[in-house]
Amino acid sequence: MDYEAFFTGALAQLRNERRYRVFADLERLAGRFPHAIWHSPQGKRDVIVWCSNDYLGMGQHPKVIGAMVETASRMGAGAGGTRNIAGTNHPLVELERELADLHRKEAALVFTSGYISNETGIATMAKLMPDCLIISDALNHNSMIEGVRRSGCEKVIFRHNDLGHLEALLRAADPSRPKLVVFESLYSMDGDVAPVNAICDLAQRYGAMTYCDEVHAVGMYGPRGGGICERDGALQRVDVIEGTLAKAFGCLGGYITGSAALIDAVRSYAPGFIFTTALPPPVCAAAAAAIRHLKTSSAERERHQDRARRVKAVLAEAGLPLIASDTHIVPVFVGDPENCKAASDLLLEEHGIYIQPINYPTVPKGTERLRITPSPYHTDALIDGLAEALVDVWERLGLPLTKRAVAAE
Ligand SMILES: *Cc1c(COP(=O)(O)O)cnc(C)c1O
Repeated sequence: MDYEAFFTGALAQLRNERRYRVFADLERLAGRFPHAIWHSPQGKRDVIVWCSNDYLGMGQHPKVIGAMVETASRMGAGAGGTRNIAGTNHPLVELERELADLHRKEAALVFTSGYISNETGIATMAKLMPDCLIISDALNHNSMIEGVRRSGCEKVIFRHNDLGHLEALLRAADPSRPKLVVFESLYSMDGDVAPVNAICDLAQRYGAMTYCDEVHAVGMYGPRGGGICERDGALQRVDVIEGTLAKAFGCLGGYITGSAALIDAVRSYAPGFIFTTALPPPVCAAAAAAIRHLKTSSAERERHQDRARRVKAVLAEAGLPLIASDTHIVPVFVGDPENCKAASDLLLEEHGIYIQPINYPTVPKGTERLRITPSPYHTDALIDGLAEALVDVWERLGLPLTKRAVAAE
């Protein structure tokens, strides 16, 4: 076996399909977000980041950095082991309290990432229930799909956000069988939102449990940043709410919240929780500071929504093909991987604008796009600059621009 040739061949296949991924070498600048330094092949260059999932810029918030630095000085860098081996570091205890309170649940359990929380959380819960049937939205994130797969349970998939299809699947299932409906509240590639209350109505009618991934909504929706479930008054109705500390909270880590018994069961049975080192105390303290701040401050959420609205309006006015979105996500349709990559390269090289191309398998083939995520720190001038740069790139690549409403008259 020529191992080198094998791996080279695997890469060649990705290149042939135009989905070999290149990551820009970026240096974020605390206090100057969304400005960053791009370590380009020609040296350092100033760029504007337009695709960060640090949606509210909390990664650079003075309270968050302050908590991280202060805790690191007092307690050191690492956690010193798994919670089984080393006990639970105190900032992690406080963080879990903060999270349970955020989602109005009895308990919370923190994992090293949102990915792990879904993968090991869903797998563990479902496996504990005898002959559980998992009913899963077609557009669920890869971490949820892996959790479903690892549970070893039977699964059926309902068409994305399709309540009729979900009901048909629930009705077809044996009424006595345990059922788990898994879905996201806010789907991050199209920016659309699940009908959470209607899903809960159906789950209640057919005796199913509900598990909702709120990764792209925590911190950003609801009066205290409790997500879409808080906004829609469904915190008490969804059995398990999962979230991340890495997006709007600007740090790292993931979690589930739910009843005390369920959380204790996952704590006790989940390999992805038991056999890995806990989050470091400085990260826990920083995340808790971000959550606490966003529970009482709505300024970031309001400015974020205002910026997203303005980006949508300015890009639409410029004739760019936006995919309609109900939320802060602004997807611009390209439709093929080569142009998507070329548009991203031109934006970075010629305009100092960083927007990572979104290609298959993250989105279906033929729906490749640029996914723009405005933050409270993107000014009017930056937004106008973005629109100009995009129009220039669209023209140079011969991509279609819609006629402006005024020009068409
Ligand atoms: C990013 C993401 C995750 C994973 O969260 P991390 O904390 O980044 O591991 C889970 N679910 C969805 C929908 C995501 O987009």
